[in-house]
Amino acid sequence: MASRKVIIIGGGVAGLSLGCYLRMNCYETEVLEQSAAAGGVCAAWTRKGYTFDGATEWLPGSAPPLNLHDILAEIVDFSRLEIAPFPQFTRVERGGKVLRAFTDVKRLESELLDIAPEDAGPIHEFTDAISQVSSLVLPVQRAPELTGILDHLRSARTLVPLLLFIRKWRGTTISQFAQRLENPDLRAMLPLIFPRHDFFSVMGLIFALGWMNMGCAGHPVGGSRRFMELVEGRYSALGGTLRLRSRVETIRTTMGAARGVVLEGGETLNADIVVSAADARSTLLGMLGGKHLSRRFRGLFASAVLFPGTIQVSLGLDRTFDGDAHKYLLHLDRPVGFGTDRDIPHVIVKLSNIDPTLAPEGKTAVVAHLRTRDDGHWLDLRADDRPRYREEKERAAEAVIDLLESRFGGVREAIEVKDVATPATYVRYTSNWRGSYQGWAPIPSLIGRSLEKTVPGLGGFYMTGQWVEPGGGLPKVVISARNVAQIICHDDGLPFTASRAG
Ligand SMILES: Cc1cc2nc3c(=O)[nH]c(=O)nc-3n(C[C@H](O)[C@H](O)[C@H](O)COP(=O)(O)OP(=O)(O)OC[C@H]3O[C@@H](n4cnc5c(N)ncnc54)[C@H](O)[C@@H]3O)c2cc1C
Repeated sequence: MASRKVIIIGGGVAGLSLGCYLRMNCYETEVLEQSAAAGGVCAAWTRKGYTFDGATEWLPGSAPPLNLHDILAEIVDFSRLEIAPFPQFTRVERGGKVLRAFTDVKRLESELLDIAPEDAGPIHEFTDAISQVSSLVLPVQRAPELTGILDHLRSARTLVPLLLFIRKWRGTTISQFAQRLENPDLRAMLPLIFPRHDFFSVMGLIFALGWMNMGCAGHPVGGSRRFMELVEGRYSALGGTLRLRSRVETIRTTMGAARGVVLEGGETLNADIVVSAADARSTLLGMLGGKHLSRRFRGLFASAVLFPGTIQVSLGLDRTFDGDAHKYLLHLDRPVGFGTDRDIPHVIVKLSNIDPTLAPEGKTAVVAHLRTRDDGHWLDLRADDRPRYREEKERAAEAVIDLLESRFGGVREAIEVKDVATPATYVRYTSNWRGSYQGWAPIPSLIGRSLEKTVPGLGGFYMTGQWVEPGGGLPKVVISARNVAQIICHDDGLPFTASRAG
């Protein structure tokens, strides 16, 4: 068969990874990215030598034996990516109490028991589950859409323990699990390891801590920018084409099949296959005009259970934080509010002290996140009232600076750079719906499930990326891309092959 042309909408990690896999299988690929740079939400920006990276903090699958690593290694040459371990995932501080979320499960267990000896039962249950993660094998080699009953039977030895584990933990949110604790301090602090995620399944937290305990989820030095350099490098070495500043407005369809796209400005591009690795809402309601909407997506758009948006305050500080943790969850004594979100109770603070590439020597890049559900406040202000938008950004920055000043001291006078991004920034640069930077929230009914990658009534069209993999995350979107490449090969009657990068 002559090589078939695939247009991929969106040059984030998913779009470029799909490009890599399709090139490995001899498809002609063109990735169309609306922005001036690839990467999507996997992004960082540099001001006066400080690199502010709100995104890539930890990479599940950064090392073997976790099998996510084998897949990531097909896209990223790990011999060119340094991984920094960290002893604490986060340090939660609230009302004078501290919870250090150690990545070593034994240390974590001692920490939890020190805080709440009376909760030994649920603590052991929690830490046993974290330990158990190392014995679980995720079935990631083959797209679930192509996996039949025989495959399941063949892998029953590893599948059954996984399914039992999922059945036990998936249906409980982090907050519900915490409600089982008697100690009020631990009950308040445990959910803050994954803050504002009151409706997230505790299973996500257990897997995250389990992979860290295995030493398989470290920090990629250089963060999002380095990760993207390697992904883009791999795609380009495989001979793929990437077109920047190319926003797709419409997906062209003829006789029930996708045939290409129309770009903003009117240029028409033809293809045999079109894949959207962009936001699901703008894909299905915008580019496809709502004509191919499944019941599931209609329901998801109506319920809008999204990852909360973030107000990211970035500070370049002319000082170090020697001996301090790299990530904090700090409680605001006076909660701050924006729009209808009257009470943002805490701030996630990340210091660049595990990654020297992010700040000049002797200095620190600080990135603080305030989670917000009122993305509309920021979107409306940016559209209608720029002076107030700027005032609100300044107010967010001041809340963070005051907090850091009272926690660490010597912050205000060390500020060399100040920058604030809001949900409106995410929408502007990535078109992610309501600035939800990781798509659907991993609530109990969605965690661990993939959404449909095809749409009703349209052939030659697929979707990939975080909007079809609830919860998002780098390995998940790479696997999503790999799965779609497998499905495309399968639909074309071709075998799927993949090789390691480097
Ligand atoms: C604050 C933050 C922290 C995170 N922390 C981690 C972490 O520590 N570890 C981890 O593994 N993951 C983390 N993630 C998640 C991870 O970065 C994302 O899940 C992943 O990068 C999503 O990739 P994607 O390609 O699916 O989507 P996106 O990055 O959103 O890519 C979609 C692309 O499509 C483009 N696009 C949209 N519409 C169009 C159009 N009409 N035409 C052309 N192009 C279009 C966009 O510009 C964008 O580049 C974090 C993300 C954020 C933002």
